[in-house]
Amino acid sequence: MTTSFDAEVIVVGGGPGGSATAALLADAGHDVVLLDKAGFPRHKACSEYCNPEGARILRDLGVEESVLAEGPHRMEAMRTFAPGGRWFRTDFEAAESGRAALGLSRHKLDHLLLQRAAAAGARVCQRAHVRSVVVENGRPVGVTATIGGMAETLRAPLIVGADGRHSAVRRELGLDVPIRWPRSTGLVAHYRGVVGLERWGEMHVARHGYAGLAPLEDGLTNVAFVADATGVEGREGSLADFFETGLAAIPEVASKLAKAERVGGIRGVGPMAFRARRTAGYGYLLVGDAASFLDPFTGDGIYEALRGAQLAAPVINAALKAGDPSDRALAPYRAARRRVFTNKRAVCWIVQGFVHTPVLMDYVADRLDRRPDLARTLAGVMGNFRPARQALSPLFLARLLRP
Ligand SMILES: Cc1cc2nc3c(=O)[nH]c(=O)nc-3n(C[C@H](O)[C@H](O)[C@H](O)COP(=O)(O)OP(=O)(O)OC[C@H]3O[C@@H](n4cnc5c(N)ncnc54)[C@H](O)[C@@H]3O)c2cc1C
Repeated sequence: MTTSFDAEVIVVGGGPGGSATAALLADAGHDVVLLDKAGFPRHKACSEYCNPEGARILRDLGVEESVLAEGPHRMEAMRTFAPGGRWFRTDFEAAESGRAALGLSRHKLDHLLLQRAAAAGARVCQRAHVRSVVVENGRPVGVTATIGGMAETLRAPLIVGADGRHSAVRRELGLDVPIRWPRSTGLVAHYRGVVGLERWGEMHVARHGYAGLAPLEDGLTNVAFVADATGVEGREGSLADFFETGLAAIPEVASKLAKAERVGGIRGVGPMAFRARRTAGYGYLLVGDAASFLDPFTGDGIYEALRGAQLAAPVINAALKAGDPSDRALAPYRAARRRVFTNKRAVCWIVQGFVHTPVLMDYVADRLDRRPDLARTLAGVMGNFRPARQALSPLFLARLLRP
């Protein structure tokens, strides 16, 4: 490595993807700088549901104890309601003993992960807003950032873009792919006093959007409403009115919120779907939402960010050890992502088709309610602890769709 670099790796973004990548690389002895524009702890628009395999990766990362100390709500199952009122249960615990999702506010979870990266030796720089990627001879070699009000340039042979859906790294490298569908906006808020949720979370699909209820620490519940982005942009009245009216129009949700009180503001994000044309190339690599994000319905985002970090770190480690951050050296990351994420992505697209077609959603909810073995398979696939191909097999689909 030449000495003109400020670090071996610059990680842009300290969400789950960036912090986990920085932690793993620092564990391996690399000199890592992590830049995040926020000051932590910070809130993040999210339903704050960490799926069962995501929760297991937290254990791999050595943060399970500190996460559990924050009192996350353990969700052993999800209940999904269709527009016509039928519902089914995807029971993680029944699919594999000990499996559960965790509900913990991102304010706490992301801070713990950032602290984990710092404890491993990563140089964490908060309120550091990356503005551009420095490219020389067609290759990224650093970033410019505003740090403490000053414009700075930092150089490294490898840049990890873990800066979320609106990734500056992805944009700067010309890797944005426009996504036309789904074009949804997600609105989330914390409530206190939501009733009727115990060891589970809930999804409620309606004709005008869908709602998610995820119990969190300290008696809080994350309440989300997702609707077509055009409807949100063209609304009359405030965002709060739109959010509350949307929830009130789903009777099962309205009854659970009847005596609840909203705590804090509504955070909104839309449109949510993004994708990169390439997730790694000479001198760069994208992790988490910066690489791709479809929709929060299946609760894959935090898991994908953490798993992506686990896939990225050994590839970066080998590339740095060989002094070769080339496209060829980083190609195994793209291959690993294809191997690990492609089937689940197909399941997520199928789920989107159901969610946007009420009659189909009613139909499959009824079948899954009456065929618990299928619901168990789906629980494992949704929780990412069973291979997604199990839910893509012709036998599974035939049994799901058979009258
Ligand atoms: C409404 C909604 C609900 C969701 N619900 C769930 C859910 O329940 N479960 C789930 O698993 N996933 C959910 N997701 C998805 C999940 O939030 C993301 O997939 C996850 O946060 C991705 O992690 P990340 O580390 O890639 O990015 P992020 O968590 O977005 O972190 C990116 C970080 O980069 C920083 N950053 C951004 N730009 C810059 C810059 N230019 N310079 C420096 N720093 C920068 C940001 O401050 C941020 O800290 C939801 C998403 C939305 C929108």
